[in-house]
Amino acid sequence: MKGKLKVNNNQLLDRWTKEKSEELYNIKNWSAKYFSINKKGEVTVNPFRRDDQSAVSLIDIISGLKERGIDMPVLLRFENILDSQITFINNTFTNAMKRLGYKGHYRGVYPIKVNQQQVVEEVAKFGQRYHHGLEVGSKAELIAAISVMKDKEAALVCNGYKDTEFINLGLYATKLGYKCFFVIEMQGELDIILEQAKKLGVEPNIGVRIKLSSTVGGHWSESSGDRSIFGLNTTQLVEIVDKLKERDMLHCLKLLHYHLGSQVPNIRDIRAAVLEASRVYAELKKEGAAMGYLDLGGGLAVDYDGSQTNYSSSRNYTVDEYCTDIVEAVMNVLDKSEVEHPIILTESGRSLVAFYSVLIFNVLDVAEFEKHDLPDSLPEDTNETIKNLFEASKNISPKSIQECYNDALYYRDQTREMFKHGKISLRERALSEKIFWNIINDIATTKKKVRFAPEELENLESAIADIYYCNFSLFQSIPDSWAIDQLFPIMPLQRLNECPSNSAVIADITCDCDGKIDNFIDLHDIKKTLPIHKVKNGEDYYIGVFLVGAYQETLGDLHNLFGDTNVVSIKVDENGEYDLVNELLGDSVADVLSYVEFDPKHMRRSFRQSSERAVKEGIITLAEHREIMDAFDTGLAGYTYYEKD
Ligand code: PLP
Repeated sequence: MKGKLKVNNNQLLDRWTKEKSEELYNIKNWSAKYFSINKKGEVTVNPFRRDDQSAVSLIDIISGLKERGIDMPVLLRFENILDSQITFINNTFTNAMKRLGYKGHYRGVYPIKVNQQQVVEEVAKFGQRYHHGLEVGSKAELIAAISVMKDKEAALVCNGYKDTEFINLGLYATKLGYKCFFVIEMQGELDIILEQAKKLGVEPNIGVRIKLSSTVGGHWSESSGDRSIFGLNTTQLVEIVDKLKERDMLHCLKLLHYHLGSQVPNIRDIRAAVLEASRVYAELKKEGAAMGYLDLGGGLAVDYDGSQTNYSSSRNYTVDEYCTDIVEAVMNVLDKSEVEHPIILTESGRSLVAFYSVLIFNVLDVAEFEKHDLPDSLPEDTNETIKNLFEASKNISPKSIQECYNDALYYRDQTREMFKHGKISLRERALSEKIFWNIINDIATTKKKVRFAPEELENLESAIADIYYCNFSLFQSIPDSWAIDQLFPIMPLQRLNECPSNSAVIADITCDCDGKIDNFIDLHDIKKTLPIHKVKNGEDYYIGVFLVGAYQETLGDLHNLFGDTNVVSIKVDENGEYDLVNELLGDSVADVLSYVEFDPKHMRRSFRQSSERAVKEGIITLAEHREIMDAFDTGLAGYTYYEKD
């Protein structure tokens, strides 16, 4: 009886808890309190960032979607999170300004390119309270902006190369009362702006984009510095000022802009850039330009891995520090020059929308790495190289892992060569592969007991990881994971009060060897595998990829013709009730085919002819013909992802 109690106590002590999952997936550090884990061990969303009943389980949302017939994968967008983030950046800047005695104010603009889908309308709606405006970089984006923007107090910043049509549209917007700024990126643009403004009788608001000498670290370091491709150097800037002076239009120069690049991880780079730009601002004022707006572009980073470091998927500052440092730096420079504090404008996109979307997909299949059963000894007549490999498998110890690894590779390669030259059979080769993988597995286990494992063995875990095949396309839904090795927080959405017993890499369904995720967030490093539960028979097991609201939807492509996923917008209320405020069905097969210039009607006609011919030739019956055509039509109308029967 006593013994039994002891066992139970030990089990109790070792019991996995949701708190252990919180630590394992580092959720508290990357979620900005928007996501957490509830007592049932499910991930919840809480747009109000409070530990109360307003949190909604993502598994409950998925059940609701299932009942409505909405298939996986699904992109969930949380309207309130967007609202919260807009409020957050505006309040944080305003508070920093109040605290430091700044005499200007803050205006944000949302760059449409970061996520065009629906977000623009929502930013225009939620942003009105703070006069949060929009930034556009093309004619199409300008048209989108003026068709949704109602707030004439908010800024409308036009970046990018501007032709006459683009400029005319902006001038008409100015005529309608919008605070529309033309930011000159190329000297040639000024002539067109002045010419068209004169023709249309509109006084333009002009801005200049400058190249700073300050450079930044992170993924986009090339967007900064003297050699960046966008913006004016100081010589060109002076020429613009002279031209405006000549035309008696210097009063139209109101805004100075720079953009360091996106996801700037180091606050020192941000501060250095603000100081430099503030100096230029003060000089432009001295030249006699009207000014009034200092536009610091984007760059406010998101802490995707929650490490709070200057690693490229993180940032070594809080939003509060970002705002405070900017305001302080501007004040420092301008107070010395006795220049009035300008309206500080930022073009934050990523930090505004990253939290807003979560990609959810289901696991379709699992290939578990299993240790093979092998006999204690091999028959006498076994090939000598295989015997040597087998011998190596018996000698693994913490001190010999590197040696065993070398032996294993050497003998495995030898057996492969022998197979190529017909010296061993297929069965013998299969035996050698089994022994090899058992050795790798044992080395990986033994490695955990070693304080300093050899560098060569660093990635061994991913070689023996389980593969979880999941219903999504990396290229469509998280392209930056493939293109620039960007890390996103990824975790199971359920069973988080159970210990995840497996370690996996995630494979998508594109059958592209790059269509996999084998880098996962970790507080101190990058994990090569994701801790995950063994999927039970018949269980629907869901995984979430978080913070995918910025850039991913826009950059996603049709690799292997997997199209847009289903998208559901959700609004959560303070009592934890939620509404599906919008539902957008993902692309059908016919849709994606038409995007790549197939004509589904023509394809159907042509396939029908083949099938009719087969009937004539007696290969199939008429009934079979009908069945085949039904299958073709169902296929065309279907979702491009794996659909459950
Ligand atoms: N402004 C400009 C000119 C940009 O090119 C970008 C994107 O790179 C942004 C703003 C948005 O930057 P972020 O998403 O880092 O806020």
